[in-house]
Amino acid sequence: YSQQQGGNRYECYQETWQRKDDDQIALENDLRRALEQNEFQLYYQPKVDLKTGQIIGAEALIRWIDSKRGFVSPGVFIPLAEEIGLIEAIGEWVLRTACKQTKAWHRLGLKEMQIAVNLSGRQFNLPDIRQRVLEVLLSEGLPPSCLELELTESFLIEHEDSSIQKLNRLKALGLQIAIDDFGTGYSSLSYLQQFPFDVLKLDRCFIQDINQNQKNQVIVEAVIKMAHELNLQVVAEGVETQAELELLRQYQCDIIQGYLLSRPLPPQDFQNLVESNKYLII
Ligand code: C2E
Ligand code: MG
Ligand code: MG
Ligand code: MG
Repeated sequence: YSQQQGGNRYECYQETWQRKDDDQIALENDLRRALEQNEFQLYYQPKVDLKTGQIIGAEALIRWIDSKRGFVSPGVFIPLAEEIGLIEAIGEWVLRTACKQTKAWHRLGLKEMQIAVNLSGRQFNLPDIRQRVLEVLLSEGLPPSCLELELTESFLIEHEDSSIQKLNRLKALGLQIAIDDFGTGYSSLSYLQQFPFDVLKLDRCFIQDINQNQKNQVIVEAVIKMAHELNLQVVAEGVETQAELELLRQYQCDIIQGYLLSRPLPPQDFQNLVESNKYLII
């Protein structure tokens, strides 16, 4: 009996495993096709200066709406794209599209608009990443000072020395470097001392229950203070309520981003929002 059960279990396991594998392959194929056929879009989520209430720029976030699958989260397909070596091409498309769009906004009179682009670890590790970024900036005509590259700490864990050099060479182009999702994963304070970041993006997990969670209040206040001492700007991610905003204001957070102000928007909607010249914070 037990042998049979074991056998069944094995079969079950096999089937699940097999099915997952097929799903994975199908998703990979769809992802390759999406890239070839230009099916990705970029959305733009406003970043707002907490002192003035003005939109100072946006984070570019990739969107993929597949004809069969519907919306596929970048949280799902970006890691897959990394795994199968598609991220370099996707990342290049994102960077170019974001820079082109931002330059177009500058031409339309939104002069100071800044753009933040997520860079995956694999993309960062390309030997010629600096050259690639420079080429995009030059060909799109975007001033480097308007570009911020967001990196998560996962890329920093290996090859630390060469990462520092690489970051410095990128920064020398005149752009900004942000550490994204700060406080998650293995983030260590020593990164802040070792790596030449300009911006610290405080992860949403510290913000989401900040009004109920005294410990998170202490952490957020202390991280903001420390970041300022280290000459880093602080962006709070995932701000959803006015109460969260008020606390962040009290702690002198510099910039906020989140559903309270706006979800990520298609380019025209983002432009309309900026042009309406609406102050998003009262
Ligand atoms: P991220 O870079 O930390 O981006 C912030 C994520 O939080 C976005 O999710 C955004 O839509 C979401 N978000 C913003 N405000 C709020 C809020 O108030 N509440 C909640 N619940 N969520 C909020 P999204 O667009 O699904 O992206 C997920 C992750 O996928 C990103 O995290 C980033 O790591 C990655 N990703 C997205 N676009 C790109 C891209 O173009 N290139 C690369 N390499 N990664 C990307
Ligand atoms: Mg980001
Ligand atoms: Mg983040
Ligand atoms: Mg994230």
